[in-house]
Amino acid sequence: MIGHRRAAWLGSAACAAAMIVWLRIGPLPAGLLDFSGAESTIVTDRAGEVLYEARSDGGSRTVLLRADALPPTLVAATIAAEDHRFWSHHGIDPLAIMRAVGRNTRRRRFSEGGSTITQQVAKLLLARGAPSSSGGRGVATKVREAVIALRLEHRLTKREILALYLNLAPYGNQLVGVESASREYFGHGAALLTPAQAAFLAALPQRPTRFNPYRDPERVRGRQQYVIERMAALGSLSIDAAREALAERLALKREPAVFLAPHFVQRVLSAGGRRAQRITTTLDADLQRDVEGIIRSQRAALDRAGAHNVAAVVLDNTTGEWLAWEGSGEYSDTVHGGTIDGVVVPRQPGSALKPLTYALAFEEGETPATVLPDVPSYFPTAQPGILYSPRNYDGQFRGPLLARRALAGSANVPAVALASRIGVPNLLRFLRQAGLTTFDKTGAYYGLGVTLGDAEVRLDELVAAYSAFARGGAFVAPVMIRAPGREATRGADMLMSSRTAFWISDILSDDDARSFAFGRGGSLEFPFAVAAKTGTSQAYRDNWAIGFTRAVTVGVWVGNFDRTPLVNSSGVTGAGPIFHAIMLAAERRVTGGLPQLDETPSLARPDRVERRAICALSGMPAGRWCPAQIDEWTAADARGPACSWHVHTATGVTVRWPSEFRSWAQSQRLLARDVAPRPVKPGLASDAPVVVLNPPPGAIYLIDPTLRQEFQTLPLRASADVRGRIEWHVDGHRVGTSDADAALEWPLEPGRHLVRARDAHGHQADAAILVK
Ligand SMILES: [Zn+2]
Repeated sequence: MIGHRRAAWLGSAACAAAMIVWLRIGPLPAGLLDFSGAESTIVTDRAGEVLYEARSDGGSRTVLLRADALPPTLVAATIAAEDHRFWSHHGIDPLAIMRAVGRNTRRRRFSEGGSTITQQVAKLLLARGAPSSSGGRGVATKVREAVIALRLEHRLTKREILALYLNLAPYGNQLVGVESASREYFGHGAALLTPAQAAFLAALPQRPTRFNPYRDPERVRGRQQYVIERMAALGSLSIDAAREALAERLALKREPAVFLAPHFVQRVLSAGGRRAQRITTTLDADLQRDVEGIIRSQRAALDRAGAHNVAAVVLDNTTGEWLAWEGSGEYSDTVHGGTIDGVVVPRQPGSALKPLTYALAFEEGETPATVLPDVPSYFPTAQPGILYSPRNYDGQFRGPLLARRALAGSANVPAVALASRIGVPNLLRFLRQAGLTTFDKTGAYYGLGVTLGDAEVRLDELVAAYSAFARGGAFVAPVMIRAPGREATRGADMLMSSRTAFWISDILSDDDARSFAFGRGGSLEFPFAVAAKTGTSQAYRDNWAIGFTRAVTVGVWVGNFDRTPLVNSSGVTGAGPIFHAIMLAAERRVTGGLPQLDETPSLARPDRVERRAICALSGMPAGRWCPAQIDEWTAADARGPACSWHVHTATGVTVRWPSEFRSWAQSQRLLARDVAPRPVKPGLASDAPVVVLNPPPGAIYLIDPTLRQEFQTLPLRASADVRGRIEWHVDGHRVGTSDADAALEWPLEPGRHLVRARDAHGHQADAAILVK
């Protein structure tokens, strides 16, 4: 009898024990603790600064705290606010439940309360799995949460459970997790929270929508004060600290959702593959802010030019890493397509493509001293009987132009002549090798006009191609994701010889060489060597400025995504000022200062070049009769005959024009008296005692309506055998003096002019020029 009862008792006891064991160690719903996809993807700059925090799958912004690194103040505040017996209970707190039931019965409704932190974690985990069913607050749900709470206590440490709570709890304004909330409301991470701030945050999860700090800070404050008092009562805060916390004025910092370099971040995120939780990019957040600020500061000028979109990038030449990337100038400008990434939208580059034509020509034997014909020309096209006659932007022809000046001054006709020599299919192959992916059609489709930039390119690809010049010819495909210690040039493909890269860099950084077309003092001039090129597409739809130093390559495009033409904007006024400011900022940022004046923009100075005096007109080695000589980096292995254009006859020095230039020379009335006859006096040195170095005889200058008047000057420069000052006359009027080899700036005036230099002994030399 007794044994029977005893067995029954033992049986029920075993049942109860089994029940408790089952409650504790029974299974958890599948995937309950699976956090893949829960955490946001954070995209940072190269130094770890957050550029963007992608919303997690649940649509909230989350940053997880680790269980072994929970801020103690926050832990104390949370336990005081939610569950002060947390450290001692086993997942449920019968005392709290009984108190809550009593309270709820008196209020005749079943509300929250009595839940331990572990139960709330269970509830948050279940809600995470099935957001739609989380509304059910019936007894069955409560029991289920309690069972899961018991099982969580069996599997996890108290700190792990607390970490789950802090990472899953809602803190209002779509913020999940206390770390995100701390950054949003106070502008710093949870580790730096003061007791007052910790109590403030701990107060929020109970009623995350009702306690909205932005809408009703006083309501939150009431509960925060309660939490501080509880902390003091529980001994986790001294009386003094509590008094201090109660008195602390909380300044809510509305940190705008971080989204720097949005176009760049989007490109990184859309790159595919499984998203890492933290993506460290190559971007430099400080430089990016500089770039965005520079564009903002130019907004009024851009508006005047009718330009609503700007794309700008900065590339680190050494590592091949993107440092700054702005796609539209204003991401939030929805009226003008602000979310479009102009960096990768193909547009016509205009003259900005020309350096690549010249680079290939240099690879194939031409040099900066090659004389090119800027004369009316006709080239066969793919269509039989149709001839192509390129024109310069100003409709003028400048006769013989050395390759240096033709490239620097952006003359069209010589560029087409070069493209004709090297062949369009050959040029297209080179452009593709340079990483330009938009040239996907045949040579016949593009024709010779391709060298003038009438086919479209992407800014990022053009900038990458230019950076090969800075690297001494090595092409490197740029990267967006940081990999420390990367050596970009190791194993890189050589796109061209270091000599070609050096020549192009030297020409594009030659302020004098481009001055005949662009004047001096414009946006392309710097207190250090910068190789730069502008471009303007047909009908003024696109305006580019691209350039590089050894350290960085900067590219700027200005235009409209809807292809509305610009108003009165050229490379010098549209993209130019933005380019100028970004180049200064980028150079300072990357090198910690500005480069030396004598530093060439190209990394490698090749040994196969030699500085020699050449004839400014023919480009051949200077002869004794050449009136204007310039120094040029010539190919060391090519020594041609001296200038055959300048010859001495009974009437003085005259030009023997090659046939392709004769009709042009005739049209310019240069055939009869090319250079002012100068009697050779016996007893003087056979070389001219005074030589006008600038302007070269027969030069044509254009007044650029987009440049300020004070920049429209011509530097007059001469060399003389005797010491003393050079006196300058223009059309018989004395305009000033200069030291030998120094320049006198003469303001350009339209018309034909005779410029005369006279030394102290009365020797003189002339140059006839035309200013339009
Ligand atoms: Zn000559």
